[in-house]
Amino acid sequence: GLSGKLQDTIKKIRGQGRVSEKDVKDMMREIKLALLEADVNFKVVKEFISKISERAVGADVLESLTPGQQVVKIVHEELIELLGREQSKVTFAPKPPTVFMMAGLQGAGKTTTAGKLANLLRKQGKNPLLVACDVYRPAAIKQLQVLGNQLNIPVFTLENNQNPVQIAKEAVKFAEMKQNDLVILDTAGRLHIDEKLMDELLNIKNTVKPHEILLVVDSMTGQDAVNVSKTFNEKLGIDGVVLTKLDGDTRGGAALSVKSVTGKPIKFAAMGEKLNDIEPFFPDRMASRILGMGDVLSLIEKAQEAYDEKKAIELEKKMRTMTFTLEDFLDQMQQIKKMGPIGDLLGMMPGVDSKALKDIDIDEKQMGRTEAIIQSMTRKERLDPSIINGSRRKRISAGSGTTIQEVNALLKQFEQMKKMMKMMSDMGKKGKKGGFGK
Ligand code: GDP
Ligand code: MG
Repeated sequence: GLSGKLQDTIKKIRGQGRVSEKDVKDMMREIKLALLEADVNFKVVKEFISKISERAVGADVLESLTPGQQVVKIVHEELIELLGREQSKVTFAPKPPTVFMMAGLQGAGKTTTAGKLANLLRKQGKNPLLVACDVYRPAAIKQLQVLGNQLNIPVFTLENNQNPVQIAKEAVKFAEMKQNDLVILDTAGRLHIDEKLMDELLNIKNTVKPHEILLVVDSMTGQDAVNVSKTFNEKLGIDGVVLTKLDGDTRGGAALSVKSVTGKPIKFAAMGEKLNDIEPFFPDRMASRILGMGDVLSLIEKAQEAYDEKKAIELEKKMRTMTFTLEDFLDQMQQIKKMGPIGDLLGMMPGVDSKALKDIDIDEKQMGRTEAIIQSMTRKERLDPSIINGSRRKRISAGSGTTIQEVNALLKQFEQMKKMMKMMSDMGKKGKKGGFGK
């Protein structure tokens, strides 16, 4: 799927230390292919790629410390933009009842979504009424009644009445009487858009003047979903889109094209057959899901904010030239702390189970103790730990509220770390001389 393809590309980019203009071009080609394969509208893809390329070949990225991550960030930001940037909420009438009208082709998920929305908005304090305006198939009315029963939400029907406009009108009156502040009209759909369907929907619209006309589209149908949205918007006028079946093996293209092709926002996303499987549509979350990286982007942002790039360069140099001291160690630790609790950071990484992070607390406490130990040393001791004899160790442990064993352990750990750095930097030198893969 789209997210898999993009993930592969992203994986390749992220780790790259240096990115050339050609690298960026290659990435763009891969992203473009992934989007086209996902059935994203061609024009949308073209515009998207040109926007990203423009930003990605900019000096900011090529000269930054982490160009790969910068590109990922740009792709993410532009995806959010494409998806509508901000969450688009439904509007409620100042004077109840608010009327929602569901529209869409047969099988898109209108009836199910009507039930899901009633359920969701009831949790937010609304008192909804479901209305069966799909009068052509007796099974359709029954389906809504079954949903209403399951949810314990009233369903309005008119016996022996085949006129959806009248039903809608009566339903609104009924809601006023019964103090239902939200009326959700479930309408009929057809296999294809035709005039009869549009006329009926327009009639309902002009008679009851719904506050929200929500077009329900099946995300599995890819570009068709987008074309359907475009036509419904032109002929009927819609206020928002509900994307359904995002749980299926959808290629994701519909979500990415709807907003820019129709100009109307996606307001809800449905991702399952159960009555809880709906949520407001958040462009940033969807973008992250498409990139398949959990909240790794906010992790990158957090890390970048906290980490002074100059310091990182200095540190790297120190590691290479073996002048890394306990003072640098302390500094580095404080940088890491600025990024927030380690548990939070790890929890944001994809593939890390947050339940498995309970033990992390201990490490954070440990870090605090390590910090205290180093802070209890004199500057001279930090720069040259070899002078730390028995009495100094005693003083440091007392000053930091730790034990002598802990002070010893830290000094030993630091020695090992330095040894490892030396090994790594020696290996680096050999690599340069000998050359890899030749
Ligand atoms: P309508 O003809 O537009 O009213 O569509 P229905 O509400 O009757 O839904 C058609 C079929 O799609 C039903 O089998 C639903 O259970 C299923 N469906 C609706 N929404 C979703 C969804 O978000 N995910 C999945 N997997 N199935 C859905
Ligand atoms: Mg239906």
